[in-house]
Amino acid sequence: MISFNVPPYVKESSEYVAQAIASRKICGDGSFTKRCNEELVRITGGLGALLTTSGTSALEMAAILLNICPGDEVIMPSYTFCSTANAFALRGATIVFVDVCPETMNIDPECVRAAITSKTKAIVPVHYAGVCCDMDALEAISKEYGIPLVEDAAQAVSSTYKGRQAGSMSAVGCFSFHETKNFSMGEGGAVILSDQELLERAEIIREKGTDRSRFFRGQVDKYTWVDIGSSFLPSELNAAYLLAQLEQHEAITAQRMARWNQYNEGLQELAADGRITLMQVPAECGHNAHMYYIKMKDLAQRTAMLDHLKKNDVNAVFHYIPLHSAKAGIQFGRFAGEDRYTTEDSERLLRLPMYYGMTEEQGDAVIKAVYSFFA
Ligand SMILES: *Cc1c(COP(=O)(O)O)cnc(C)c1O
Repeated sequence: MISFNVPPYVKESSEYVAQAIASRKICGDGSFTKRCNEELVRITGGLGALLTTSGTSALEMAAILLNICPGDEVIMPSYTFCSTANAFALRGATIVFVDVCPETMNIDPECVRAAITSKTKAIVPVHYAGVCCDMDALEAISKEYGIPLVEDAAQAVSSTYKGRQAGSMSAVGCFSFHETKNFSMGEGGAVILSDQELLERAEIIREKGTDRSRFFRGQVDKYTWVDIGSSFLPSELNAAYLLAQLEQHEAITAQRMARWNQYNEGLQELAADGRITLMQVPAECGHNAHMYYIKMKDLAQRTAMLDHLKKNDVNAVFHYIPLHSAKAGIQFGRFAGEDRYTTEDSERLLRLPMYYGMTEEQGDAVIKAVYSFFA
């Protein structure tokens, strides 16, 4: 069976984790965490980066940083992971779901514009499949209305938009290092900040609302509780595991990209015949080969394809059930505008195996299995 995902591993991680253990300093914000933060600043060009315990906690930090309160509204795509919405629902906000562009499954800026009210306090573009949203249009809306953007860049570490890095194009960029992502520490994430004030407050929120980071830098002579916060900093063991991957991020991405290109070329004929729709990447987006998806005709055909692939030892999977139709989505949010693509296209979408270490032979076997469905 060809797995859908295998968590990324490079052998240098074992060495780094052993060093972390030997140092006897395994709580947060030690040398491995700092080195990860530095790598993330190097990759993103952001002002600062802070590792967190998950992509979920990175989003929760963003919601606290933007002072989201009960009664506020936050606009995001319905086609996303529940953590995007939870982070803001936890602060009491109403989630306003809008439609996606079918070409990318990313939030449609025109739908965002139409959904803005006097209560809108944040807009959350999700860079689905590592392909960046239409940031020019979203930034124009953000400026026009004075509403900050928060990037859910969980899938988009090292992706670009017109040469700019995902995570660095908004007030708070949120990364995930879950084991299903391109770079992983088991469970983990990061916030990317581009504003000095937000960066300083993020340090406090991440350290249970204390000014402990300033204390360690000698900027204050004792540390105290100064803001709300939580424990959002991961252990050094996890940071050590991640660091080796961040140091080799280009090689890891290049290898994933080889499989991505293999799929994209190998499936052209089926697309030309109108049997399937291939994933599309706008010219201005440099993606990170996080995912390769295809779209089938409808839900029934997708179910049949998933079954067929399983019988042929290929573990393919579908993805999000739109949040606006989920129990909590109904309770904490509403859909603004028309659902033209979210439900229909989410039912057609099918993700093929993709991971660091996947071989060309395995890629060929997946492509062959997809073709044989139509034979
Ligand atoms: C993975 C993911 C998250 C959550 O990240 P965790 O590290 O699993 O908490 C949030 N949003 C999106 C779009 C994701 O893909």
